[in-house]
Amino acid sequence: MQTATLFDLPAIQTVPDAPAAAAPAKSKRKKRTVHVSVPLTPSTTVPDEMIRDADWVVISSSGGKDSQAMLSYVVQRARALGMLDKVVVVHADLGRVEWAGTRELAERQARLAGVRRFEVVQASGADLLERVEIRYGKLKAKAQQEALERGEDPATAKVPPAWPSSSARWCTPDAKRGPIRTLYTRLVAELSHLGRPVRILECIGQRAAESTARAQLAEVEINRGASNGKRIVTTWRPIHAWSDRKVWREIARSRLPYHPAYDWGNRRLSCVFCVLGCNSDLVNGARRVPELAAEYARTEVVVGADFKKGLSMREIIRRAEALEAAEGPAARPPAGTAMAEHIGRARTSRYRARQAALYGLAA
Ligand code: SF4
Repeated sequence: MQTATLFDLPAIQTVPDAPAAAAPAKSKRKKRTVHVSVPLTPSTTVPDEMIRDADWVVISSSGGKDSQAMLSYVVQRARALGMLDKVVVVHADLGRVEWAGTRELAERQARLAGVRRFEVVQASGADLLERVEIRYGKLKAKAQQEALERGEDPATAKVPPAWPSSSARWCTPDAKRGPIRTLYTRLVAELSHLGRPVRILECIGQRAAESTARAQLAEVEINRGASNGKRIVTTWRPIHAWSDRKVWREIARSRLPYHPAYDWGNRRLSCVFCVLGCNSDLVNGARRVPELAAEYARTEVVVGADFKKGLSMREIIRRAEALEAAEGPAARPPAGTAMAEHIGRARTSRYRARQAALYGLAA
């Protein structure tokens, strides 16, 4: 693939934070400058060449199934190239809002895969629920100010929802992307002796099959927002084209343990109550972590808006309680249930048996 060289580029390029459709003249958003050394396109999209070319290969792991399939796939390639030493696994710890044991599982997966360096990053200050309240305070102040300017009673000002949503997904940059960039800064400092921008290959487990928005993402691209004069960050989505079945097959091949929440019926991991999660995942979460659901419901009252458009946490809790009343406590299907649905019982039994032999996990 042809790439612009460093010398083809203009002195400073400016990229707007807002989408191209927004009118730049009226936009109040800050403009971000991108350093001259940041290329427009990657010099290669060939996986082994990208790994060879990188100073660091940073695998972003939520501990979920896509992350772990990507982890084992990338590690396998790096090992074959004799370059496992440059691989770092990073987990963005979301604190109380994520499934219990996720951070520990992400670390275990990395260690078992043979990665020596595992890093945990965390947003400083407030967690997601606290940020919702902080955001609400800011949105309310803004709405009241605007009402005053229009000569209206500020008490009647309509405050937009403070919760993240698919169209205002501020939770990901706040909780994951920003903290992970602090790791990039440290990794760059470790290689300052190179005397050139450090090349970071960031590996992300996003798949086209997850959503229309993710289907639009490139498999390989320069992350211009994360790049600067000291580092060139290339984003690689190694499993972008993979199906669910292929993900589960890779997990079976890798023999790495996966989170039991999948066996309990969840489709996604990370936050127990993800704004993008399907309703059954949310109800499942409310059955298994009711105290966290209650905290979300309390936050709904504080910010005067439902957790999800058209679906409040109160309603999610009501549905969870109705199921508990009808069925009793949520069942814990045996380990391997989720995998067996995708790749069959025979393969799953072999995976479980190998896990038992290798790691002493119950088969
Ligand atoms: S898991 Fe969902 S709610 Fe949590 S940070 Fe990611 S997108 Fe936001």
